[in-house]
Amino acid sequence: MDLLKKKILEEGSVEEGDILKVDSFLNHQLDIAFLNEVGKEFKRLFDDRKITKILTLETSGIAIASIAAQYFNVPVVFAKKIATKNLDRETYESDVYSYTKGRTYKIKVSKKYIKPDDHILVVDDFLANAQAALGLMDIINKGGATLEGIGIVIEKGFQDGGNLLREQGINLKSLVIIDSFEDGKVKFR
Ligand code: 5GP
Repeated sequence: MDLLKKKILEEGSVEEGDILKVDSFLNHQLDIAFLNEVGKEFKRLFDDRKITKILTLETSGIAIASIAAQYFNVPVVFAKKIATKNLDRETYESDVYSYTKGRTYKIKVSKKYIKPDDHILVVDDFLANAQAALGLMDIINKGGATLEGIGIVIEKGFQDGGNLLREQGINLKSLVIIDSFEDGKVKFR
């Protein structure tokens, strides 16, 4: 996706620990016109699939999923990372190790919102080691729903997640794949 490559090159910065910072359009300030293009692209890439729901993770996934959902005409469910009092007691849970935070946390989804007749598209901002994706897949499995695909905005191709998911035959589509960060510069595949 050329627009995304341009945004990354012009606005992104490479931080310590191979972290790409894209706060000006994806992770803090949100460029809605850009996110609309992301949503349209996900619709085009997964148009052959029957999707009944989009599943993501709070916080960064919510905006991406919500805008994409307008093109699929389906609801969005986001897994909660923080236990809140008003979350239903009956939940599907999974443990996720966060590369950026260096710790494991629990993600939870109410059993009300994942049903065996659901056909689910997972979306997220980044794919690195696929810990978040595996956690969401675990929740989909526990709910007896069908995973139709995973849509990622930025895949870090030098980490293991992409291979791991593709080897499992998962319908993974990333809008851009980064091969390396060379001297602070982003190299695309
Ligand atoms: P994974 O679970 O695939 O190992 O990592 C994906 C998650 O970690 C994403 O949800 C994202 O929040 C975060 N992440 C991983 N790498 C980066 C990165 O380079 N930049 C940013 N902003 N987030 C990242």
